Amino acid sequence: MCVNYSRMHERSPEIEEIVESVLAFARERLLREGLTIGASALESDLVETNTIQLGEEGSGLGAVLNHYIETLAANCIAADHPAYLSFIPAAPTKASTVFDMAVSASSIFGGFWQAGSGAIFAENQVISWLAREFGMPESAAGTFVQGGTVGNLSALVAAREHARRLYLDRGEQEPRRWVAVCNEEAHSSLTSAARVMDIDLIRVQPDDKGQMRGSDVRGVLEAQGTAVFAVVATAGSTNFGIIDDIASIAKLRSEFPFWLHVDGAYGLAGMLSPLVRTDFRGVEEADSVIVDPHKWLFGPLDACALIYRDGELGRAAHTQRASYLDTVTGSPEKSPTDYAIQLTRRVRGLPLWFSLAVHGAAAYRDAVTATVLRAREISEEIKKRPYLRLVREPQLSIVAFERVGWDGGQLAQWSERLLDRQQAFVRPSSYHGRPHLRFAIINPLTTFEQLAAILDTLSDSVEDSMVGAVPLSVSGAR
Ligand SMILES: *Cc1c(COP(=O)(O)O)cnc(C)c1O
Repeated sequence: MCVNYSRMHERSPEIEEIVESVLAFARERLLREGLTIGASALESDLVETNTIQLGEEGSGLGAVLNHYIETLAANCIAADHPAYLSFIPAAPTKASTVFDMAVSASSIFGGFWQAGSGAIFAENQVISWLAREFGMPESAAGTFVQGGTVGNLSALVAAREHARRLYLDRGEQEPRRWVAVCNEEAHSSLTSAARVMDIDLIRVQPDDKGQMRGSDVRGVLEAQGTAVFAVVATAGSTNFGIIDDIASIAKLRSEFPFWLHVDGAYGLAGMLSPLVRTDFRGVEEADSVIVDPHKWLFGPLDACALIYRDGELGRAAHTQRASYLDTVTGSPEKSPTDYAIQLTRRVRGLPLWFSLAVHGAAAYRDAVTATVLRAREISEEIKKRPYLRLVREPQLSIVAFERVGWDGGQLAQWSERLLDRQQAFVRPSSYHGRPHLRFAIINPLTTFEQLAAILDTLSDSVEDSMVGAVPLSVSGAR
């Protein structure tokens, strides 16, 4: 018995058909007008409608691709839809998305400089450009990792390693428990990082505007001393888009020698807009920062830029050593694997590089500014409507508001119907137990009219809110 195994790799009419068909689908999806938001299915429904079993025999191109398009892709939510307003959406530029396909087609191993020097050079240009935008020095270096969760973890590992070295140099015993400090509202990935690192994470109460300030952190530093190896300032909280008072936190370092990490996974891209740039004062002092291109930098899923003020401190913590790596760890150029918890990686910074190089930074500034303005406009509209209450003025592009008189259950019901009708994807959130709704606006195609029409559906009772409401056409081209 002989299976012709090379038929999967060799160029042949069959392979050409597979390549052309998949590219045709990708092309259609990229240029589609009138994108629908999509749906979320129960696993049991998908089991029932599944037509593709994985077995010894293949099912053939037509059946598999059809199943993907009709059933699988249809039961996913398009994070790039202009009415996707939950969590933090994605709004990749067309150039970045199509270039992501070019990256996939190129099979570049992005772990080591020698394997991907050209691509890594371009990624590093983006890292340098971001570092300059954030006011960091020339020595800044880093890489792209999968997401903010891995970025935060990698930065905190480097921070602790640095602190350990300082203890060692002084001939002192390490603290019994290492401590990192962040805002009570900081992202859940920090809790996850603390668990992985087996450290304590102290979440401090911010001021009444939700910003963590130096004065809020001082108490912890005085009580915990040098066990505090890192303070994490959030530059754009996930729930509200609040930026901590980074400058006042940075100032404390003249008294306490902690590593300042800035988690700007969502918000740091806001520095591209002159409207809010000054709110980030202090970022230039950070020892490390992260920002996710897949959020507000209009790149495709998934990528996080992790940047160290002093690249050597990242390398000291993360360089992997082994006999089978000897030939590459000796190279004078820095390798992406040296900066984070990862070895094999795709060059996930290239889609942003391509789009930024093609369109120029000014277009990015305009796009970020447009979404900040959109958030302000719809906040004013919310204030005009008596059945709504703005939770707080948006600092960046996240607008949180309450529907007066509705509980969490009613909001959830409303949200389901909004999605069923393909009008919008708006999931309820909450703050200190109080349910609210949230528009996370990062897509420059999201219009004021679209947002106002969503507010309209909140004016009646939950039952009435959907009667006669006309689904808004949500053409991606607008
Ligand atoms: C989204 C987010 C993260 C996590 O990033 P992922 O890319 O989802 O892993 C961390 N911090 C903040 C502030 C975020 O908004």
